[in-house]
Amino acid sequence: MHLEPSMKQMVVRRTVRKFAEGRLSPVAVEMDATGTFPSEIIREMAKLQYFGLEIPAHYGGAGLDAVSYAIVIEEISKASAAIGLCISVHNSVSANPIYEFGTEDQRKTFLVPMAKGQAIGTFCLTEPNAGSDVSSIGTTAIRDGNGYVLNGNKVFVTNGGMSSVNLIFAATNTTDKQKRYSVFIVESERKGLEKGPTEELMGMRGNPVCPIALNDCRVPVENRLGAEGQGLKIALSSLVDGRIGIASQALGIAQASLDVSLKYAKERYQFGKPLSEFGAIQNYLVNLVTRVEGARLLTYRSAYLKDQGLAHTKEAAMAKLYASEVAVDATRIGLQIHGGYGYTKAYPIERYYRDAKACEIYEGTSEIQRLVIARSLGYG
Ligand SMILES: Cc1cc2nc3c(=O)[nH]c(=O)nc-3n(C[C@H](O)[C@H](O)[C@H](O)COP(=O)(O)OP(=O)(O)OC[C@H]3O[C@@H](n4cnc5c(N)ncnc54)[C@H](O)[C@@H]3O)c2cc1C
Repeated sequence: MHLEPSMKQMVVRRTVRKFAEGRLSPVAVEMDATGTFPSEIIREMAKLQYFGLEIPAHYGGAGLDAVSYAIVIEEISKASAAIGLCISVHNSVSANPIYEFGTEDQRKTFLVPMAKGQAIGTFCLTEPNAGSDVSSIGTTAIRDGNGYVLNGNKVFVTNGGMSSVNLIFAATNTTDKQKRYSVFIVESERKGLEKGPTEELMGMRGNPVCPIALNDCRVPVENRLGAEGQGLKIALSSLVDGRIGIASQALGIAQASLDVSLKYAKERYQFGKPLSEFGAIQNYLVNLVTRVEGARLLTYRSAYLKDQGLAHTKEAAMAKLYASEVAVDATRIGLQIHGGYGYTKAYPIERYYRDAKACEIYEGTSEIQRLVIARSLGYG
C-alpha cells in the first residue's frame, strides 16, 4: 500500500481546498444561521464535477478513485459540513448505486443529470419505526400492472428539500425476509410524493433534511433499481461505501477544529503566556493531532481497499466509527481550549461541535458500526 497520495490526488486536494476556502467557508456561517442552501453553490460545484465524483466521464462524472473522493469530501467538510453531507450522500448512496445497479436506460435518464449536478439525489431508508433496524421498513410497493404503487413515510432525508431523484426502499414481498425489499427511483415531481418541512437540526444546518411521504405514488417498473427483492443488498452495500464518505466528512470537521484550536492556543494569553505553553493544553492538542492522523489513515485505507476491489466492510465501519468519535472529541476539546469565547458564535468551533455529532448517528450509529465490526470478529 502506498501511503503517499498520487500526483493526481494532490492536484484534486489543491483544487478542492482552494474552492472550499474561497467559496464555501464564506457561506458556511450564513447557511448555519439561516438553514438555507445557496443554489449558486450547487451550480459552481456542478461545474467542478463534485456531483459525479466516482462516476465515469461518459456518464458526465469526474471518474475519480475512492481516495480522491475521500479527499474531496474531507476538504469540503472542513469548510462546510452541511455541504460535505450533501456531496457525500448524493454521490455515495444515491448516484453510485444507480451507476452500480442501474440499467443503461436508468443511467442515461437519472445518473447523467445527477453526475452533472442538474438533479440532486437522496437515499430514503429511515422511517419513523425503522432507524437502526432497517428490516422494520413499513413502506410498501404493491405491484399493479406495469408498475408499483408506493405508500409509506420516510424521515430524515438528507438533501430532501432540493432533490429531484429519490431512492425509496419499500417492501415488495411479505413472505421471504431476505427478499422483502426493493428500491425505486422516484422523481420528486411524481404524483403522490410529498415533502415535509425542513427539520430544525442541531447541526448540519443548511442541508434541507426533511421527511418524504408516499401516498399512492405510482412508479413504472422501469424505475425499480435492481431486481425485485434486491433492496436490502443494495442498501447495505451502498452504506458500506457511504461510510467512507461520512468518515471523510468527520475527518474534515476534526481537522478544521484542530486548525482553529492550534491557532487560538498560540494567540490567547493568560498568566503572561500563550495557552499553547500550558502542559494541559499541549496534551489536548498532541492527543488530537495524533488521533486526527489516525482517523485519516483509517479513512484513506478503506477508500484504498475499495479502489483495489478488495473487501472493506469492516474497514469502512472502523473508519466511520473512529473518525466520527475523533470529530466529536476534537470539537468538544477544541471548544474547551477556546474557553468562554468558544461558547459564542464569534468562533466557528461551536458550529463544528454541533455538526460533528451527526456523524456518530447517520449511515449507522456508532453502536451499529461496533456491531458490524463485532460480526467481522465472528460475534453475533
Ligand atoms: C442529520 C441527519 C441526516 C440523516 N440523513 C438520512 C438519510 O439521508 N437517509 C436515511 O435513510 N436516514 C438518514 N438519517 C437517519 C439516520 O440514519 C438514523 O437516525 C440512524 O440510522 C439511527 O436511527 P434512529 O434515529 O431511528 O435511532 P434508533 O435506531 O432508534 O437508535 C436509538 C439509539 O439506540 C441504539 N441502538 C439501536 N439498535 C441498537 C442495537 N441493536 N444495539 C445497540 N444499540 C442500538 C442506537 O445506536 C442509538 O444510540 C439521518 C439522520 C440525521 C440526524
